[in-house]
Amino acid sequence: MLPGVIGALKLLKNNFKFFIVTNQSGVGRGYYTLDDVHKFNEKMVKELEKHDIAIKRVYICPHHPDEICECRKPGTKYLKDAKKEFNLDLKNSWVIGDHPHDVEMGKNAGCKTVYLLTGHGEKHKKELDGKGIKPDFISKNIYEAAKFIIKNSPE
Ligand SMILES: [Zn+2]
Repeated sequence: MLPGVIGALKLLKNNFKFFIVTNQSGVGRGYYTLDDVHKFNEKMVKELEKHDIAIKRVYICPHHPDEICECRKPGTKYLKDAKKEFNLDLKNSWVIGDHPHDVEMGKNAGCKTVYLLTGHGEKHKKELDGKGIKPDFISKNIYEAAKFIIKNSPE
């Protein structure tokens, strides 16, 4: 868990429900199994639960990019699924991610977006700029992102 994650989610938890949307093409490529992915996520979700942070659902795309599925980011299938199941207001929801496809997915679904420079963010920043993708906020870390979101959310 990167530093600041717990603090950031605590800042947001009274106003937002949390979801994880993740591309795990390593499954489709045969590098690891879907079961491995589930085990990893379960551990992370349990760790967060210890801090009173609930992840409502983890959405995994296990497909190889060549499969052209609907669930791989920047596809919006999982955001639409979550909207339906949890009655979300996507316009007032935020996608936070460290890859351009996170921002693209969010924009495709009408969400607000934050691009993180932590994780893979710094590495992919040029790609983001190259594609002309403009997130609502580019943040040096998730804690700053959380503060921005709170400041820019309706009461
Ligand atoms: Zn998929």
